[in-house]
Amino acid sequence: MKLVSSCLIGLCATWRAKDNSHSKLVELMQSGKAIPVCPEQMGGLSTPRAMAEIVGGNGEDVLDGRARVMTREGEDVTSEYIRGAEETLKIARMVKPEEIILKENSPSCGVRWIYDGTFKGNLIGGSGVTTALLRRHGFTVVSDQEFEAASGAEDPNLYL
Ligand code: SF4
Repeated sequence: MKLVSSCLIGLCATWRAKDNSHSKLVELMQSGKAIPVCPEQMGGLSTPRAMAEIVGGNGEDVLDGRARVMTREGEDVTSEYIRGAEETLKIARMVKPEEIILKENSPSCGVRWIYDGTFKGNLIGGSGVTTALLRRHGFTVVSDQEFEAASGAEDPNLYL
């Protein structure tokens, strides 16, 4: 069983209430081989919700209290992001997935890249809050982009 970001398997879970459907991951879900998780929804945030970025660091820094997750309007949503990460960890512990595949660039799900906190579309190296927490507890997390690269041809929906 795989644990997969909800937006990647076709659920309209993003802050804009859109999806990031990835056809191979949708197929996995339809064949009963994937369980969807959306940390931001499980953290108590609505859909749609305000755009947010990690300010002052990455997901590791958020967990250590050195950085915050802020909306573009200046609301501090750090506690919701941490709660979402903790809820995702609970599910991972129950499911014991063979693989966890999360959406790159997200302040929760980002694996190698996140936005830099300026809300200008700039990416920096680092993981989101959920990925950081899962890794701290021994889980291996790959991004949708890494999954795609490992599984062959590029998905036409990958960068929509
Ligand atoms: S928190 Fe993760 S699963 Fe939820 S919409 Fe954002 S990237 Fe997708």
